[in-house]
Amino acid sequence: MSASRHPALLAADPELASFVAAEEVLQAQTLRLIPSENYVSAAVLEASGTVLQNKYSEGYPGRRYYEGQQNIDRVEALAIERAKGLFGVDHANVQPYSGSPANLAVYLAFAKPGDTVMGMALPMGGHLTHGWGVSATGSWFRGVQYGVRADTGLIDYDAVRDLALAERPKLIFCGGTALPRTIDFAAFAEIAREAGSVLVADVAHIAGLIAGGAHPSPADHVDVVSTTTHKTLRGPRGAMLMCRAEHAKAIDKAVFPGLQGGPHNQTTAGIAVALHEAAQPSFTAYAHQVVANAKALAAALLQKGFDLVSGGTDNHLILIDLTGKDVPGKIAAKALDRAGIVVNYNTVPFDPRKPFDPSGVRIGTPSLTSRGLSTEHMPVVADWISRAVDAAAKGDEQALSVIRAEVTELMAAFPAPGLPLS
Ligand SMILES: *Cc1c(COP(=O)(O)O)cnc(C)c1O
Repeated sequence: MSASRHPALLAADPELASFVAAEEVLQAQTLRLIPSENYVSAAVLEASGTVLQNKYSEGYPGRRYYEGQQNIDRVEALAIERAKGLFGVDHANVQPYSGSPANLAVYLAFAKPGDTVMGMALPMGGHLTHGWGVSATGSWFRGVQYGVRADTGLIDYDAVRDLALAERPKLIFCGGTALPRTIDFAAFAEIAREAGSVLVADVAHIAGLIAGGAHPSPADHVDVVSTTTHKTLRGPRGAMLMCRAEHAKAIDKAVFPGLQGGPHNQTTAGIAVALHEAAQPSFTAYAHQVVANAKALAAALLQKGFDLVSGGTDNHLILIDLTGKDVPGKIAAKALDRAGIVVNYNTVPFDPRKPFDPSGVRIGTPSLTSRGLSTEHMPVVADWISRAVDAAAKGDEQALSVIRAEVTELMAAFPAPGLPLS
């Protein structure tokens, strides 16, 4: 399938080329529901695979430590301008290698080792880098963590406020990896102001929804916006830090020379293209469709008798709580994978099981929306998930192969951006 797409690779390294070709088939044939994944456009793929790769560019546009930056400076300046325009911020740094190093740069900019920092607990839906114990951010800093209410599955803003005022953290992170509901940035801003904390919105998951107007923007409420570029934003794997002018120097210094060396210029180019795409009306439509699809899928799953954390979704993400089913998350996720439906197992808030064998499955609609599926397909998707979970409970491999054939057939009708036609 990919022989004609990567001729030089095929000739030089057929073994590696075969792995890439197999991955193309997998991404084309499966229903990809991992909410942090997507399909980048062919244009983003091309930009990310250019000779910009060959250039060292430590520093920032106009202030480099290497010569020959005529073109690289224009690429990075363009990405910066597009980020500022799209997200309505004073300053953007497009160099962080990924979301986790971007967040580490925020710590470097505003905190000292041992300082108290506050974020959402990982098992409640927060990210490792928000001060969780096994992360450097939780061992070099003193992480205090908030969660959601047991009865609603929603962030308990009163408890967040109490904790912030008791602990006076240097940094407060809002945002997470398994939050199906809208984040109230204004409420966090009020709390951070009272506590004297620097507020960081980590919008890695929802950046594309914000860009497309399908989730409120944090820009007017927080000190720093941290985001990956490869989730709903649909760019290459990378990250950005955005902030008000007063923090620009601290953020830039923290990324380089504080934490990183040369930026990945080919990725910067891919980010620039993705930001250009995200400024188009078609992206606004995509962002709203992602949410409409997630709401329709949540409704269909509830109808099939599934429990959803917080009872549904406001964004691209759904957390299925399998506590009441006969199958835990990992077994369900592996069965779904055999049925051609790719998800990840996940803890649910107050999970009675262990993190490596939790009670939940996390799904999302960005990838299927990028392929053109719409609300009318969501009952079908919910039916597949329901049948696959039942089949997992019964050990019915035959039922899983039947679902896989149905999935492959539907996906063939919706070619994925950036992939060869199946
Ligand atoms: C994905 C994610 C990150 C980390 O991004 P990587 O690129 O995987 O390092 C950080 N914060 C949040 C909220 C995320 O969802």
